[in-house]
Amino acid sequence: MPNIVVLGAGVSGLTTAYLLSKDPANKITVLAKHMPGDYDIEYASPWAGANYMPVGKEGTDHERWERETWPYLKEITEKYPEAGIHFLGTLIYNRKKDQESDTGKWFAELTQPDPWYKDVVPDFKPIPDEKLAPGVDNAQEFTSVCINTAIYLPWLVGQCVKTGAVFKRAVIKHIADAANEHHTGQKADLIVNCTGLSAKTLGGVMDSKMHPARGQIVVVRNNPGPMASVSGTDDGETECLYIMTRAAGGGTILGGSYQKHNWDSLPDPNLANRIMKRAIALAPSLVKPGQGIEGLDIIRHGVGLRPLREGGTRIEKDEVNGVKVVHNYGHGGFGYQASFGCSVEAVALVKEALQSGPRAKL
Ligand code: FAD
Repeated sequence: MPNIVVLGAGVSGLTTAYLLSKDPANKITVLAKHMPGDYDIEYASPWAGANYMPVGKEGTDHERWERETWPYLKEITEKYPEAGIHFLGTLIYNRKKDQESDTGKWFAELTQPDPWYKDVVPDFKPIPDEKLAPGVDNAQEFTSVCINTAIYLPWLVGQCVKTGAVFKRAVIKHIADAANEHHTGQKADLIVNCTGLSAKTLGGVMDSKMHPARGQIVVVRNNPGPMASVSGTDDGETECLYIMTRAAGGGTILGGSYQKHNWDSLPDPNLANRIMKRAIALAPSLVKPGQGIEGLDIIRHGVGLRPLREGGTRIEKDEVNGVKVVHNYGHGGFGYQASFGCSVEAVALVKEALQSGPRAKL
């Protein structure tokens, strides 16, 4: 009966705990500073849209994680409406002039005319050239999902709790200290590190490859219909344009930005204006005919920091001060759409690490 501590209760920690909790042999404590229900700049997961718009480059682990995640999201959407996910059509617009910008590079795979994910998502089809707006070089549509994070994260908590996992609040200074926080009072056999951007400053990890990609959003009550994304904008180099309506009354997210190394937690009112104006230009049905941004009914402005890692997500076995660790962090702007692929891999490493005995002392 292994004692496991999952450190972190964002989508990465919760998905890993959810999969681990399917094995009744695992005794799981989920330990975190922030839990679903909290909104904090150190906690990326609640701020996400969140939808499935694959961005992993073809042939990479990232592609595989996203490819493997779709069937799980599809199944949850179909079987568990209470999880707060729904299917929604999505339109993707590519402008070749964005390809050297940060947002263009981020969306490079998504906006390809012939992407790998065309066989993964339902209803993929290119939009004929004659229907493209001026300035758009190619476009496509498919059916995706949109996740209401305010419902989905608590749903994951519930799935773990009902199979015996225990949730505890704590702030950990050093990764090895988490081993002393298992709910049984015994020392944990293994820690799964799902601390997102905080892996940069967490003792025993201190990953200097971690940095934020700041995302600013406006959440509104208006509902334009399908989701839509554009590869870039003309008046903000690190800004992009996306619209997505969350399931079950979660409002519509208007985005956004992709500002690397920017830690600012306060919404920039000028950027908010640009976001709203661009959204209405792209989807006039957001407001009544003739209206501008005054026609938007704002619920809140928000900022989240995507936990980006140079060189890619870290899913790896480790040992710190004699404590076994499996890392699963650094999911940038794709933490939901790669959540199951990454967590399946982390769970396999947990099994491997627990099967191997303690490291022999030299
Ligand atoms: P986090 O959610 O940041 O969770 C980290 C957890 O670790 C928290 O519980 C925290 O309290 C805990 N923790 C950290 N350090 C400590 C410590 N020392 N002691 C105790 N606890 C600690 N992704 C998509 O797939 N689709 C989208 O549409 C999408 N849209 C996004 C839009 C925005 C505006 C943003 C900001 C992100 C978006 N993302 C999207 C990305 C996604 O939100 C992230 O990749 C994901 O939330 C990362 O989750 P995480 O669990 O790794 O980290």
